Amino acid sequence: KTVVEKIVRRISLQMRDQQQAWQESPEGRRMLEFRSNLPAYKEKEAILSAISKNQVIIISGETGCGKTTQIPQFILESEIESVHGAACNIICTQPRRISAMSVSERVAFERGEKLGESVGYRVRLEGMKGRDTHLLFCTTGILLRRLLADRNLKGVTHVIVDEIHERGMNEDFLLIILKDLLPHRPKLKLILMSATLDAELFSLYFNGAPIVNIPGLTHPVRTLFLENILEMTGYRLTPCNQVDDYGQERSWKMNKQAPRKRKSQIASAVEDAIRSADFKDYSLQTQESLSCWNPDCFGFNLIEYILCNICENERPGAVLVFMTGWDDISSLKEKLQAHAVLGDSKRVLLLACHGSMASSEQKLIFEEPEYGVRKIVLATNIAETSITINDVVFVLDCGKAKETSYDALNNTPCLLPTWISKASARQRRGRAGRVQPGECYHLYPRCVYDAFAEYQLPEILRTPLQSLCLQIKSLRLGSISDFLSRALQSPEILAVQNAVEYLKIIGALDENENLTILGRYLTMLPMEPKLGKMLILGAIFNCLDPILTVVAGLSVRDPFLTPLDKKDLAEAAKSQFSGAYSDHLALVRAYEGWKDAEVDLGGYDYCWKNFLSFQSMKAIDALRREFIGLLTDIGLVDSNTTSYNTWSYDVNLIRGIICYGLYPGICSVVHNEKSFALKTMEDGQVLLYLNSVNARETQIPYPWLVFNEKIKVNSVFLRDSTAVSDSMVLLFGGNLSKGDADNHLKMLGGYLEFFMEPTVVDMYQSIRRELDDFIQS
Ligand code: ADP
Ligand code: MG
Repeated sequence: KTVVEKIVRRISLQMRDQQQAWQESPEGRRMLEFRSNLPAYKEKEAILSAISKNQVIIISGETGCGKTTQIPQFILESEIESVHGAACNIICTQPRRISAMSVSERVAFERGEKLGESVGYRVRLEGMKGRDTHLLFCTTGILLRRLLADRNLKGVTHVIVDEIHERGMNEDFLLIILKDLLPHRPKLKLILMSATLDAELFSLYFNGAPIVNIPGLTHPVRTLFLENILEMTGYRLTPCNQVDDYGQERSWKMNKQAPRKRKSQIASAVEDAIRSADFKDYSLQTQESLSCWNPDCFGFNLIEYILCNICENERPGAVLVFMTGWDDISSLKEKLQAHAVLGDSKRVLLLACHGSMASSEQKLIFEEPEYGVRKIVLATNIAETSITINDVVFVLDCGKAKETSYDALNNTPCLLPTWISKASARQRRGRAGRVQPGECYHLYPRCVYDAFAEYQLPEILRTPLQSLCLQIKSLRLGSISDFLSRALQSPEILAVQNAVEYLKIIGALDENENLTILGRYLTMLPMEPKLGKMLILGAIFNCLDPILTVVAGLSVRDPFLTPLDKKDLAEAAKSQFSGAYSDHLALVRAYEGWKDAEVDLGGYDYCWKNFLSFQSMKAIDALRREFIGLLTDIGLVDSNTTSYNTWSYDVNLIRGIICYGLYPGICSVVHNEKSFALKTMEDGQVLLYLNSVNARETQIPYPWLVFNEKIKVNSVFLRDSTAVSDSMVLLFGGNLSKGDADNHLKMLGGYLEFFMEPTVVDMYQSIRRELDDFIQS
């Protein structure tokens, strides 16, 4: 033991000497000065003493005050200087991959080191960690994986969970596990950090853990809402009647279905408000620009107008534009690049900031541009709290973010851009006042802001719990409902039951809630279980190529575009790809056509002609490669051969595999004289979205449709469906050896006689059982 101690001591001394030398060098001195001016630095002693006296502490402070970069360093430094030497092993989790990487790089840089010396990082499929690494930044997911093999976090001295105010599913999940672990590891320290939050909630959860608040400095920010922005351009926004109804809408919040209803009402209110404003301005005059106020797409023309105005008339300072996601950002970037002023690289440095950007691009975001050049950063809500760009003076806020929401009652999930909360809007606004007084353009009317929720609901309460339940099982954390009842805010019992029921029906859990082999493979694929199932079966049946496209297509924004003013043309374009009574197969055909066109012409014209989103096609292409990588990693595909494509042209097999993934998302097709009606067990009659290829048919020569998603607006609508036969349902549908699934089918069949002979059904069921055994083995 003494030998080990000596070595640790010697390494610490080396590290200390190195730090001293660095801090005495000119760059090091400048860096130390920068650091010591951060608000967090002034609380250094208070923080360290709170950590030494308590097992759990909570630190809150304004974004940019130095929590993420400084606090882990304080702990590291104090350990290096202590008499025992650096016996610490600090893990700091970040909700996103990109922040883990950029923060670790920044901290190493602040210490005058290379990454992988005392500071390292680890994210999925990548990392940099050395023998002397004592401070590791990683994604929350990575720490959860580590817990799989090492339940007690042996050797770890400090766990720092950052950005807890975001209330991500992984973070809430991790906190339950850590809370259970703390009594068994009395020396383990837990530090929770967040921007502004309801710190009391966390303190109560951890038996009254102390809260250290870092006071911060911010400058005033002038706030403009849409009406003020339009007034600047010489036009007035006249609120319409719907807007007056908000009082009533807010009271709907108590009601289960209220949030979605409220959101769609706000959306139409904005559209109406915009429409009733009298636009004559050059950038806002076309019908097309009005349709930009469609909830999925935010007035690009208005953004262009404001940016142009800032560049030409405003004082120096960077601009930060909050958009909903990567696809929006890249289309806007393309549009701006074509603009005379904004596309001029001598005057404007146009950058994107989102979760999947390259690290070279990342660095540019923090750098000051050359004199006279204005930096414009188009960002997702990642720039809301986890990344701080110092020189921002102007903020544009589209008011939306992509989030998943889930309604346990209808069991219907959706991933759509939705309105942010008041807290998020405040946070976005605050980004403009970091270094000097700033300005914030909210691209929506004040009345819409007033209707925002105060805080966003935690993810665990608004998304389906299927993946989380699988994870609980794979970490062997016991009964799912017991475990989740210990959460900071527990999900509804109904939501938990739905998830467990679903996992049983799809064969990921057995009757006793134990993980099956299929379930175990599904936990290794970071996607919704239904998508994972399709990939797995596609690989088993050597029919992967089209399935990769189907799964990728379900993971990106709908590649088939339907501009409001060219609806008919767009639907006609889509129907060229129909013929198989399947939106999924239509996508496969469209993608294959694009691939062919891409070889000669880049595929852009092809997309334009066929109303396809070029960005989505690109994204599908990238995802397909990623999926192959994942399947190779878990040993289901040998990427050196193409044998996994032997059956890729068998349309019926593809149909079957789609059914395997989407079941129990199934409805029966009931034909009448002129057309057909659709029914599901839970909802009765349902309708198809008009842009579905099946919506254009008068007859469907199959008794069933499987669908990816149903969304409740006024009626229940199905998005993306594929027609399947009885035998496909029997072979690839639910696990028919189980009573529940059997009932499900029988009840569905109640709407339509099951035409098959009982003996034929028996035969299929026995093949199905063999198939199940095969897949499970
Ligand atoms: P917090 O976690 O409290 O939001 P951070 O520790 O992330 O704050 O950032 C503290 C300060 O360090 C910020 O003012 C930010 O501008 C600066 N900073 C952080 N990362 C970088 C970077 N990669 N390059 C330059 N400055 C950075
Ligand atoms: Mg931070």
